[in-house]
Amino acid sequence: MKFEELSLKPEILKALVELGYSEATEIQSKCIPIVLSGKDIVGQSQTGSGKTAAFGVPMLNVLTPGKGIQAIVLTPTRELAVQVFDNIRSMGKYTGLKMACVYGGVSLEPQTDALRRADIVIGTPGRVIDHLDRRSMNLTNVKYFVLDEADRMLEMGFVDDVVTILKHTPKDRQSLMFSATMPSQIRAIIQRYFNNPVPIKGQAQVDTKLLKQVYYNVKPEEKFSLLLYFLKKHQGISVVFCATREESDAVAANLEREGVNVMAIHGGLTQNKRLQVVEMLKSKKITTIVATDVAARGLDIKDVSHVYNYDVPKSAEDYTHRIGRTARAGESGDAITLLTHKDFDNFDRVLRDRSLKITKEQIPADMPMVRFDRGMARRSFGGHQGRNFTNRGGRPQGGRGRFGGGRGGGSSRSGGGGYNGHRDSEGGSSERRSEGRSEGGEGRSHGGGHPPRRGFSGHNRR
Ligand code: ADP
Ligand code: MG
Repeated sequence: MKFEELSLKPEILKALVELGYSEATEIQSKCIPIVLSGKDIVGQSQTGSGKTAAFGVPMLNVLTPGKGIQAIVLTPTRELAVQVFDNIRSMGKYTGLKMACVYGGVSLEPQTDALRRADIVIGTPGRVIDHLDRRSMNLTNVKYFVLDEADRMLEMGFVDDVVTILKHTPKDRQSLMFSATMPSQIRAIIQRYFNNPVPIKGQAQVDTKLLKQVYYNVKPEEKFSLLLYFLKKHQGISVVFCATREESDAVAANLEREGVNVMAIHGGLTQNKRLQVVEMLKSKKITTIVATDVAARGLDIKDVSHVYNYDVPKSAEDYTHRIGRTARAGESGDAITLLTHKDFDNFDRVLRDRSLKITKEQIPADMPMVRFDRGMARRSFGGHQGRNFTNRGGRPQGGRGRFGGGRGGGSSRSGGGGYNGHRDSEGGSSERRSEGRSEGGEGRSHGGGHPPRRGFSGHNRR
């Protein structure tokens, strides 16, 4: 469907043309008219199907500038908040509406400034609550409440915060939610706070004609070698998924040693570092990122040609999210999963999902064996988890030198028994720690090292 058929204002159509959007995606064609008609919606569709415009376009079409905060969009991560903010700002550039983006890990003051003028706010729950507590954000004029990636919010422990924020909005608001799955706690929110929402489904699967999905059975000591072999062989942009922050750092450090332009991205990094990594990839300064699921979720990195499951995803759904990074918008892509015997159980669940057509391949005969040094990231960076590998400029020279003298072979032993046990360290709780309320504290300390001032209203200039 063409956007022209959706009775949108010319200033929005103009921006959409500039963005290169001509046809509305399926979820957009379905959502936009219903949101414009004033109804609540609960939408489900794959990553990359254009959900931001599905809720953003109708909102931008209806709101008028200068009437206080009229829309609040909650996202589970800071990267997503920035991405949604950028997208909505581009689509709304001729509307005169002002957007503010609020997330933790950076100081509050510039956000407070932006909030004074904002018509639309995009933010993560922890920081939104910080602003509500400080009265630097007022949601009493809100017409649209949007919950993006609701299931991920739940996994990250944000449900209570979401409800708290909902309670700051007026009852006659319009509520829009997007979620890949509908766990009972999400259904409970819908029941309690949504008004007869219309369920909307978009594309469920990636286009299997464009996406080639394969897996390899490897011995633990072959895993890194095979990854490196492919990365060297294939052109393009690659995303390598690992189960934990530690594993991401170690894999990235070993890849860099072997000459790959790579960075790690995970919840242990500061906000600036994470944005920097995304920027580096977008500007093609690096070709590869090594990511955890949480950090990669929803990241809109264009032109990803290869997705590697270095560690297997926990579920078919995580698998789908990961492979949703590639073969987007008509491009083709490859999803490559490396399986050790420990992963068979986990991956069996993925393989049983008949809609995913994954074929087994043999390890290429010409693959050279390369050592994997598990301690590498830690040795180079003095054990500071998260203060790590993306710090390329500031990386001590000694790290590489010291490494040069090390012996290899770490992967077969520690890899075999090791990291499955750490799998959960990237789970909801650790990400929540970095993303959630505690991060508000981090933000506050930027403001000059004051103790937390919850409820402090001295900055409230209204
Ligand atoms: P989702 O939230 O479903 O994962 P996004 O809203 O982030 O998807 O959109 C994914 C990408 O597709 C973005 O780069 C966005 O700019 C682009 N996009 C969205 N809608 C369209 C469209 N109608 N035509 C072309 N590109 C689009
Ligand atoms: Mg999205």
